[in-house]
Amino acid sequence: MTQFVTLLEDEAATVALGKQMAGAMTPPLTVYLNGDLGAGKTTFSRGVIQHLGHQGAVKSPTYALVESYEIKGIDVFHFDLYRVADPEELEFMGIRDYFTPNSICLVEWPENGCGLIAEADLQIYISYKGEQRQISIEATTELGQKLVSKLK
Ligand code: ADP
Ligand code: MG
Repeated sequence: MTQFVTLLEDEAATVALGKQMAGAMTPPLTVYLNGDLGAGKTTFSRGVIQHLGHQGAVKSPTYALVESYEIKGIDVFHFDLYRVADPEELEFMGIRDYFTPNSICLVEWPENGCGLIAEADLQIYISYKGEQRQISIEATTELGQKLVSKLK
């Protein structure tokens, strides 16, 4: 398994790592973001989405479950499944249809995906280290390995 672990000193460092990784991201790609509330999953996603080319704000998709962006012909879907109580909600929104050959999917709280979401290429774990954060990025596919091997 290819793994990259580093300390993120502050919010800016979290955004910067997201931006760095976005530079090598191409569809189809699925990234699972694991970590407690407030760990920095949305902050990291903001770095990714803005570096891919989205100019506006990046809202947390907590209530909508998904925020969709079309960036330079690529679909970017940012999920937050924290609130999902029943797999039927996911069936109802047609969640499987978001994972296409042309999409990059970032998924917060993937354990609430009830087996209806694509397998991850990357598993990201963010944890509290005092005021700072530790991030661990694990490749779970060959595509994911390409991304992780670029990190230093
Ligand atoms: P999540 O989506 O995991 O619930 P958010 O990204 O919404 O978390 O919020 C993370 C919070 O922690 C924000 O207030 C942000 O400023 C802060 N934060 C993000 N990264 C770091 C970091 N590396 N060190 C310290 N604070 C951070
Ligand atoms: Mg969040």
